[in-house]
Amino acid sequence: MRRKIIAGNWKMNLTLPEAEKLADALLNNFTQANGAGMILAPPAVYLQRLAEKTRQHPYIQVSGQNCSEHVAGAYTGEVSASMLASIGVKYCIIGHSERRAIFHESDSQLAAKANRLLENNVSPIFCCGETLPQREAQAHTTTVKNQLVNGLFHLDARAIQRCVLAYEPVWAIGTGVTASPQQAQEMHLFIRRTLAEKYSKEIADRLPILYGGSVTASNAAELFSCPDVDGGLVGGASLKADDFLKILQAYKIPG
Ligand code: PEP
Repeated sequence: MRRKIIAGNWKMNLTLPEAEKLADALLNNFTQANGAGMILAPPAVYLQRLAEKTRQHPYIQVSGQNCSEHVAGAYTGEVSASMLASIGVKYCIIGHSERRAIFHESDSQLAAKANRLLENNVSPIFCCGETLPQREAQAHTTTVKNQLVNGLFHLDARAIQRCVLAYEPVWAIGTGVTASPQQAQEMHLFIRRTLAEKYSKEIADRLPILYGGSVTASNAAELFSCPDVDGGLVGGASLKADDFLKILQAYKIPG
C-alpha cells in the first residue's frame, strides 16, 4: 500500500499571521481520510514556526519549497538542506516548474539539490512535467523521462525510496485547466514504469507519485481515484483551509 499525500505549496503567499491562521485551521480540523498525510510547504521564513506547530501531529509535516544545491558558504539569500533539517523539516520540493522556468534551474542543479537533501535526511518532492507545446508535439513522455533521468536517476535504489514524485504538467499549473484523469493516469503509469525499468517493480510500486495542476475540491476525488495517482501537490486551493481539507477528504470517496 503506497503512502497517500496531499501537499500544499503556498508559494510566495501569506503574511505570518495569515500563515499561522491557515496552519491552525488545518491542524484543528484535520480528520483522517484513508490514512492520507498532509504536507505543508510555506515560504521559508515560516518553516520553523510551522515545523514547531506540527511537530506532534501524526499526519501533518512541513516541507521547504526549494533549497540550495550547495552545502554552505557564500551564497547570499540561499537556504541549505542542513538548515532545513536543523529546524525539523522532513520534505523539500525541488524542480517545481516555476523554479525551472523563472529561475532557470537545470537538471544538474536539481540532481545536486536532491543529494544535499538526502545527505540531511530530508525527502525531496521531485517535480516533473511538460509544457503545452511539448504535449502538443507528443513529446510529453520524453520530456518527463529526461527530467527523471537527468535530475533523479543518479540516485541509488536506497536513496530513490526516500523521494516523493510529483507530476505537474506546466499547462495545468495555476491555469484552472486540469489534466483529465486519463491524462494523469497515463503519465503516472509511464513514470512508474520508467522507475521500474531503472530500479525495480517493487520500488516503483512503493513510490508515491502526486498529481499537481489546478487540483480543486471538485476534481480531486476523480483524480485521486486513478490507480497510479497517490495524492496531490496543490497550489492555489491549498491557501484556503476549507478547500484544502475537502481535497484531503476526497480520499474518503471510494474510487
Ligand atoms: C503548483 O504550484 O504546484 C500547483 C499545482 O499550483 P495550482 O494547484 O494552483 O495549479
